[in-house]
Amino acid sequence: MSADAQVVVVGGGVIGLSIAFHLAEAGVETLLLERDALGSGASRATADVVRSYFAGNPVSSALAVRSLAAYHDFPERPGLDLPLRQVGYLVLFTEREQVAAIEADLPAQRAAGVEVELVGADEARALNQLVGDDLPLLAAAWSPDAYISDTAAIVGGYAQAARRAGADLRTGTPVTAVDAETGTVRTADGVITAEAVVCAAGAWSAELTRSAGVDLPLTEPVVQELLTTDRLPTAPDIPVTLHAASGLLVRLRGDRLLIGMGYPDADRQAWRARVADRLAAVYPSMAGVELHTAVTGVRDASPDRTAFIGHRPGPPAFLYAAGFSGHGLCNAPAAGELVRDLYLGKDPGLDAAALSATPERVR
Ligand SMILES: Cc1cc2nc3c(=O)[nH]c(=O)nc-3n(C[C@H](O)[C@H](O)[C@H](O)COP(=O)(O)OP(=O)(O)OC[C@H]3O[C@@H](n4cnc5c(N)ncnc54)[C@H](O)[C@@H]3O)c2cc1C
Repeated sequence: MSADAQVVVVGGGVIGLSIAFHLAEAGVETLLLERDALGSGASRATADVVRSYFAGNPVSSALAVRSLAAYHDFPERPGLDLPLRQVGYLVLFTEREQVAAIEADLPAQRAAGVEVELVGADEARALNQLVGDDLPLLAAAWSPDAYISDTAAIVGGYAQAARRAGADLRTGTPVTAVDAETGTVRTADGVITAEAVVCAAGAWSAELTRSAGVDLPLTEPVVQELLTTDRLPTAPDIPVTLHAASGLLVRLRGDRLLIGMGYPDADRQAWRARVADRLAAVYPSMAGVELHTAVTGVRDASPDRTAFIGHRPGPPAFLYAAGFSGHGLCNAPAAGELVRDLYLGKDPGLDAAALSATPERVR
């Protein structure tokens, strides 16, 4: 088959760029098409957290364990010094059912390679000294393998290395349609043919994959906002901490807290007021602090909060990597390796079936 490129990757976020790097490094002639600038989608807006523990989701944990190993090796491959400040990840449980569910999940997490243990309330308070004495804390999950990194550096590192390996990364090039039967990708500049097309278009993937005959049940793009406090007079070095009952997530950024909690609904002020209430309830010293918007981004979500990574074999082949549900940075290196191996027909060394769009996952 005569094609303009062996593989066309649609989407230049952290996932598409990891895929482009891994393909080009393996000697595959790769063309990446990004409608805007590289890293301008959800990958612009992250909290820079990379961790391996995803409570109740050992499939995502397995991807993240593999990805963390790749981040540690980043200076060698793709070849960039990456900040990785170890802070650990703490999940606070205030309900008995949460503790029972997490205990039942621990064997699967450990089988996935995650370092995690259940600790008592006193130990959790020692790990995060901001947690209030009045919080009815029963226990916490503690995973030391969590880091603050730099998403822009990861995006830039993959882009640079992909180009070095021969990939063509084109920005300002929206893809308007994919025809998986013929391996053609339509852009404003014309039609491109490929032996395989990869959809890595983040929150905008559902339409493209549908046009290729793969129906991914992704939700509508989710708007997510992170808030920040003013500078704190004293800022103890706390881990990334999730209050399981509310979804309140905090980490220290400089001498301010960076805060997330679900998604702002139509009434943004009401959402902010709920965040402020919850913040004060879990961390009493934060009562009354001013909250400001740190960043707003749009991301994708799958129903089971696990990415869809898979393929419809060809030629022309169609591959997809979307639905990372708020943890694409934690999964990006492994996603690139998996897509490369699916394209090359190699054993990816992990349970690829658990990630593909099987009828059980899409119904
Ligand atoms: C506020 C916020 C905080 C987050 N914090 C974290 C975190 O700390 N850790 C973590 O692991 N994850 C985090 N995430 C999630 C993470 O940002 C995403 O999972 C990840 O960036 C997804 O990468 P992606 O490449 O799939 O998508 P994107 O980065 O959105 O990239 C998709 C790209 O495809 C392009 N595109 C779309 N349609 C087309 C088309 N038709 N033609 C050409 N190009 C197209 C878009 O322009 C975009 O650049 C956070 C997300 C948000 C919103």
